[in-house]
Amino acid sequence: MANYVQKPAAEVAKGVFQLEIPTPFSVGPVNLYLLQGEKLTLVDAGPLTEEAWHALNAGLESIQVRLEDIEQVILTHHHVDHCGQLERLRRVSQAHTMAHPLAVPYVEMDEAFLSFHDRFFYDLYRESGVPDEKLVIIEKYHRLITTFAEKSRIDTVLKHGQKVPGLSEWTVLYTPGHSQSHLSLYRETDRVMVAGDHIIKRISSNAFIEPPRDQSQARPLTLVQYRTALQMCADMEIDLALSGHGEPVAGHRELILQRLQKNWERTDRLRELLRDGEKTAYELNALLFPTLYEQELPLTLSETLGHIDLLKILHQVECREAEGVLYYSL
Ligand SMILES: [Zn+2]
Ligand SMILES: [Zn+2]
Repeated sequence: MANYVQKPAAEVAKGVFQLEIPTPFSVGPVNLYLLQGEKLTLVDAGPLTEEAWHALNAGLESIQVRLEDIEQVILTHHHVDHCGQLERLRRVSQAHTMAHPLAVPYVEMDEAFLSFHDRFFYDLYRESGVPDEKLVIIEKYHRLITTFAEKSRIDTVLKHGQKVPGLSEWTVLYTPGHSQSHLSLYRETDRVMVAGDHIIKRISSNAFIEPPRDQSQARPLTLVQYRTALQMCADMEIDLALSGHGEPVAGHRELILQRLQKNWERTDRLRELLRDGEKTAYELNALLFPTLYEQELPLTLSETLGHIDLLKILHQVECREAEGVLYYSL
C-alpha cells in the first residue's frame, strides 16, 4: 500500500465512474463505482482506513462530486474491503443504504449472528480435521471484521430481478458463491454489468464457505453456487463487466469458461489425491495447496471443501465420521 498512487476517477461506461481505493489486503485496491441515475449512487464503500477515506474523497473531487452529494450506497457484498467505511460515509452523506438481505447481519454486526458465525466455523474446522492450535484463525478473522469495518445499517434490501430504486436503468442480479450476500447490477441498454467480486480478470474469485443465515438451515454449497451463478452470467449478453478488483472484463464468456474448466481440473486433482486412501479435508487442503494452506486457511479450506461438496453431489466420494472428524474416500 506504501506505493499506492492516487488515480483520478475514470468514466468506464456511460455515467459510470470507477474510483480505485487502496486496501491493506493482498487482493490490492478495490474499485468503487459512482453511478449517475435519478439518484447519485455509489456502489461499495471501501475498507475502514484513513488511506481509503482519503482516496475516496480525492477520487470524487477529481470529478467535482462531494461526499455529501451521494444519495445512496449499494453494497455488492459484505466483505470489509467493500463495506468497511459505509458508516463513515453514511454519517457525512446521510445516504440511503442498500444490499442483499444476507449482508445485513454482517453490516449491522448482529451479535447473535456473529457468535453463531464463529461457532459454525469451530464446528466446521473441527470436523474438517483442523488441529486445535490452528483454530485461533477464527478469532483473527472476527477481529478483521471489527478492525476494518464499523457497525452500520442497511435501509433497503435488494433481491434478484428487481429494478434498482433510484437507478431505473439498472437491474439487480443475485450472484452468490464468492459471498452469500453477493449481488451485481446490470444495465440492459448497453449490456454493462457492475460485477463486484463475482467476475475478476486476473484472479479467480474464491467461493468462501459461509454459515447459513441461521441454525435451521444447512451450510450453503458455495462452490456449486458460484459455478451456477457464473453459468448464469455466461448465458447473458454482457459487453463489459466492471469488477471489484482490477480492470473491466470484455469477453466475459471466454473468461468464465476458462474459470469453470480450471475449477474442474482442481476437482479432478482432489479425486486423484483420494486414490491412495482416506483423508480429512484438512489433509486434502495441505496436499492441494502445500505453500498456501497455513497462511491462508479460510481461503484454501473453502476451496477444498467446495470441491468435496461437488464430488459428494456427484456421488463420487464416500464419507465416514470418527470422533467428530470426517474422513473422505473414493
Ligand atoms: Zn469479496
Ligand atoms: Zn473484494
